[in-house]
Amino acid sequence: MSDCIFCKIVAGEISAIKIYEDEKILAFLDINPVDPGHTLVVPKKHYENFSETPNEFLSAMMPVIDKISKAAMKATGAEGFNLALNNGKAAGQVVFHTHFHIMPRFPGDGHELWKGKPYAEGEMEEIADKIKENLR
Ligand code: 5GP
Ligand code: ZN
Repeated sequence: MSDCIFCKIVAGEISAIKIYEDEKILAFLDINPVDPGHTLVVPKKHYENFSETPNEFLSAMMPVIDKISKAAMKATGAEGFNLALNNGKAAGQVVFHTHFHIMPRFPGDGHELWKGKPYAEGEMEEIADKIKENLR
């Protein structure tokens, strides 16, 4: 994709601080980190989002994410990390090239997670049934 910023990083047309690279995957530091060490892991091939990304790439990404998250925790002294992926505009995706975020976390860093709310009566079973019907 010629206008994709992450494709340009993969191609070396835009600079990035690279952390890891293999034949399928590139990882580099996020330019605007949630906490220091915030790393993006992307397939080198352009796919718009997670749902469009073939299993071949997704399964190659997980061991890399495992390796980098451990290294980032050691390097930064983080006590935990969040692994996130925003899939689609409604979920906050801004760059439309599949990427996982590895975000080292520190006690008292002030970031909050989403607040849950309980289901209405019967709603939980209904949504579970609908999801199961749609599994392929
Ligand atoms: P999204 O909301 O799409 O999941 O997140 C996109 C992420 O890409 C953001 O955290 C943003 O800071 C990061 N980002 C956007 N442009 C660049 C860039 O040119 N270089 C780097 N290293 N990160 C970028
Ligand atoms: Zn791309």
